[in-house]
Amino acid sequence: MNTANNFDYIFCGLGMANLSLLVRGLEEGIFDHKAVLLIDPKPLADRGNDRTWCFWSDEALPFDFLVSKAWSKMHFFTQEGTHIPLRPRRYVYQMIRSADFYAYAQAVISQFSNITTVVASVSHIDSKIGRVTAGEQDYEAPVVFNSISPDLSSFGEHPTLLQHFKGLMIETPTLHQFEKHEMYLMDFRCPQTEGTTFFYVLPVAPNRIFVEYTFFSPKVLAEEVYREGLKEYISKTLKIRTFDVVEEEFGIIPMTSFPFKRNEGKVVNLGVVGGDTRGSTGYTFRNTQFVVGQLIKSIKKGKSLEVNEPVSAVHQMFDETILRVLLAQKEYNGAQIFADLFSKLPTHLMLSFLDGSTSSLENLRVMSAVKAQHFIKPFWNAYKNQKMKPS
Ligand SMILES: Cc1cc2nc3c(=O)[nH]c(=O)nc-3n(C[C@H](O)[C@H](O)[C@H](O)COP(=O)(O)OP(=O)(O)OC[C@H]3O[C@@H](n4cnc5c(N)ncnc54)[C@H](O)[C@@H]3O)c2cc1C
Repeated sequence: MNTANNFDYIFCGLGMANLSLLVRGLEEGIFDHKAVLLIDPKPLADRGNDRTWCFWSDEALPFDFLVSKAWSKMHFFTQEGTHIPLRPRRYVYQMIRSADFYAYAQAVISQFSNITTVVASVSHIDSKIGRVTAGEQDYEAPVVFNSISPDLSSFGEHPTLLQHFKGLMIETPTLHQFEKHEMYLMDFRCPQTEGTTFFYVLPVAPNRIFVEYTFFSPKVLAEEVYREGLKEYISKTLKIRTFDVVEEEFGIIPMTSFPFKRNEGKVVNLGVVGGDTRGSTGYTFRNTQFVVGQLIKSIKKGKSLEVNEPVSAVHQMFDETILRVLLAQKEYNGAQIFADLFSKLPTHLMLSFLDGSTSSLENLRVMSAVKAQHFIKPFWNAYKNQKMKPS
């Protein structure tokens, strides 16, 4: 297929997910001699570092060579100030800057003449016939990869929280106090009035620290709330009085039990809209790489583009349970729940649980670390909901 508006593959949205598939696929040769169309309103060259992707892993992952910093020591602080050192054993916490990822993607794409790029917004996708409307044009392909993020108001009755955060990359005139490979995974030394609220601290160089103020709550807050909270935390808790802000990021990640569809007619959904985001944590990057790996194998073998989901039904049920408990925010709030989990369980077990790779026995061990009376009803409701989901 190669007429003006007909392609073999169309990619709608060029963010982390579709770029992962495109770049890995190009490098493996699966798009050789195929007509590929990319549609996104934001050219890669204009984006800068609009986000950082972090994940933990105990194995080599695609795009490892783009990891700009890694940490092997983590810390947790309870709301009362108790320090819990976390020892992740085999796991290493890693960061990829989106600017590096986009630049690499751009460099790979530019080597292929079979790729057409359209800078426009997709206004409609007809999944039945694989027709995509962008600007005044219609384009068609037998396979459409879609990673346009979902509308945040589209989750209906399904338990949903927003993970919203502002992060600052700061530069300090003097060296900071952090050891070389240590970071704060969760620091709850702040008010919990707006929902589950914590700071996340990634020292990236002796005079550079990324500090993020994160909320799990139903609504985004006014800009000054993040700004003031960050200022106070940096000066009073981190005791850094003088600093320059060199980069900023703001993000909203849906934490939801909404049953995202992977395949819809000729459309394969990827990334947030494909359900790659872990409902209880917001982490997405690693899950997407797992899905992309399977899609590449299927394309190579000419198989149907269905995948084993990165988050099993059981782990989705735990996610929904945790979401329900966090939404209730009663006497047992997020700060206490995470403190119980991280103080009572080995870090590597918690990280495997949050990765969705724990066994049934390990899941039971995790659940035994929290106050059962607050989890029984949410668990039962999540169980019933899970049963009703289309498989
Ligand atoms: C600031 C931030 C930090 C994050 N940090 C982490 C992290 O540390 N670890 C982790 O695992 N996850 C993280 N996430 C969650 C997740 O990994 C990211 O959101 C990731 O970018 C999701 O990839 P995606 O491809 O689904 O969406 P995106 O990367 O958001 O890409 C969507 C693309 O669609 C395009 N688009 C939008 N509308 C249209 C339209 N109408 N037509 C065509 N194109 C359109 C956009 O321009 C964009 O390029 C973070 C999210 C944010 C927002």
